[in-house]
Amino acid sequence: MFVLLTNDDGIEAPGLLALAREFHSRHELAIVAPDRERSATAHAITVDRPLRAKKIEHALGPAWAVSGTPGDCVKLALTTLLPRRPDVVISGINRGPNLGTDIFYSGTVAAALEGVFFGLPAIAVSLATHAATADYSLAARVASAVAQHLTDKPTLSQALLNINVPALPDKEIRGISITRLGTRRYKNVFEARKDPRGQTYYWLADELINEDGVDHDTDIAAVAEGKISITPLHIDLTDYRRLPELQGWLDGLFDI
Ligand code: MN
Repeated sequence: MFVLLTNDDGIEAPGLLALAREFHSRHELAIVAPDRERSATAHAITVDRPLRAKKIEHALGPAWAVSGTPGDCVKLALTTLLPRRPDVVISGINRGPNLGTDIFYSGTVAAALEGVFFGLPAIAVSLATHAATADYSLAARVASAVAQHLTDKPTLSQALLNINVPALPDKEIRGISITRLGTRRYKNVFEARKDPRGQTYYWLADELINEDGVDHDTDIAAVAEGKISITPLHIDLTDYRRLPELQGWLDGLFDI
């Protein structure tokens, strides 16, 4: 396989390094990642300033540090930087989970999604801890196994898989579940503080107030139960259940 690795935690993040180590021995890889942390940038792209791509001498493969978002990185990699089309795009391993509705904010998932926009299969992989020292090796092995499967199966040629791995020792992992997205709710609290010049500033201090506790088929429940979660995602956000209802509503409303 020829694998494009990217992330949203920045090119020096340990999760990305763990992926590179895992794929280096058996596959060809290229790394194109943001030059600094760009978490929670979702699918932003840069249009109002130039992008710099600095080639890095990396022992594990060719690497570029890009002065943009995860989405920029994948776009630039697939159109310009890589010598040829990769077989799969892998984004991560993120520091912290990307579960349920949080994926709408995730740069990790957006980078993988950008790969799908280019017609490639893609994986977003996250480790469910924000700890500074964490063991990414199991998550890297899972990403490798799933990537092999994705590239072997023509029916999965444009699949987007969101993988979340519990931060547990290998022997405490209780299996792998194929899941649907759950719902995460936050109490959005902005702490108001004063800067040294007496001006007020605000800092988002999210507080998770409710996770799906009843539904066992969600990604959130799987990780809470110590299981690796794999959720297939789809780029079509159309609410098909509402199409007939809206059509009827439209027919009656506009008599022109
Ligand atoms: Mn991140």
